[in-house]
Amino acid sequence: MILPIQTGQDNPILKQEAKEVKEITAQIKQLVLDMIETMEANQGVGLAAPQVGQLLQIIIAKPEPNKEALVLINPQIKKTSRKKEIIEEGCLSLPNLSVPVARSVKTIVQGLALNGQPVKIKAKGLLARIIQHEIDHLSGVLIVDKGL
Ligand code: ZN
Repeated sequence: MILPIQTGQDNPILKQEAKEVKEITAQIKQLVLDMIETMEANQGVGLAAPQVGQLLQIIIAKPEPNKEALVLINPQIKKTSRKKEIIEEGCLSLPNLSVPVARSVKTIVQGLALNGQPVKIKAKGLLARIIQHEIDHLSGVLIVDKGL
């Protein structure tokens, strides 16, 4: 099911801390499937649960259109490279806006896969950028808050 996306830089839902997922229930699995469908329907490359109104620590990323989406539950950034890059970013919650944002070119992130197994991802390039962008959403941070 395609879910409505929360928009607007003053939207209170987008400014809150998301909560840890305690158990990956059938409802959580359905939410993730709906998030993937919603992201794809909007030609997005990533989405965080607060953007569909759920204050839960869930992100998805899909840097390449023909590959499966990466799902991370309770993601935590373990390491970021000192080297950063400034690139204009957009956000499905801030339509018609793009902001130059400096982000680490590489990151190591840990979390849970949809099956509950722990995963550790070493990301670089676009995937690293998407992961950092989506994890920002889990603490209520938007690209307009990171603007240079
Ligand atoms: Zn966003």
